[in-house]
Amino acid sequence: MKILVVEDESTIREVEKAYLKRAGYIVVEAADGEEAISLFKKDKFDLIVLDLNLPKVDGVEVCKKIRESSKVPIIMVTARVEEIDEIIGLEIGADDYLKKPFSPNVLVARVQSLLRRLGSETIEIDDINIDAEKMRVQVNSEEVELTTTQFNILYLLAKNPGKVFTREEILNKAYDDILPNDVLDRTVDAHIKSIRKVIEVDTKNPKYILTVIGRGYKFTE
Ligand code: CA
Repeated sequence: MKILVVEDESTIREVEKAYLKRAGYIVVEAADGEEAISLFKKDKFDLIVLDLNLPKVDGVEVCKKIRESSKVPIIMVTARVEEIDEIIGLEIGADDYLKKPFSPNVLVARVQSLLRRLGSETIEIDDINIDAEKMRVQVNSEEVELTTTQFNILYLLAKNPGKVFTREEILNKAYDDILPNDVLDRTVDAHIKSIRKVIEVDTKNPKYILTVIGRGYKFTE
């Protein structure tokens, strides 16, 4: 997933970039509205984080310009409350907004939830049904209990069948909050164990979530 971060204050931009990268996204930066539009024309993005007050071309104009040709999710960022009313009132086409100052963890959580919401993807494998929009998993048409983190892990693996994820990648991508570095691999293993309990018929010989010894986990192809 590739995200365009448009922000003229380099310190804020750096923080946004660092947290989004840590959450597993590819980040491209633009320091003003003109650069944002030219990058948008050249490249394909899954989401745009757009500051409202920008040099050269302001955020509202950038948003309108993008909306002429694209429905890419846009999160607007602004320091002024009056502008939030304006963003909503003008219906310029932003999907969400954040008021400055914000915690970078909140930004990451918003990005993830927006992508999940707009993706509104349902994955079906045999008798397992994963509804990303409702964050619901059904096995044999019966809803099963998973925590948000467990849901995120299952969704991440099932969305990328055959792709091996290391425990670190799983942690970084499945948690909404950034975890301290000392979180153990055991955490991931414990979550995988819980997920297997609800989706696998035989947890000792899992059919769906496979262990790749020395590397991590993958969902069956
Ligand atoms: Ca600004």
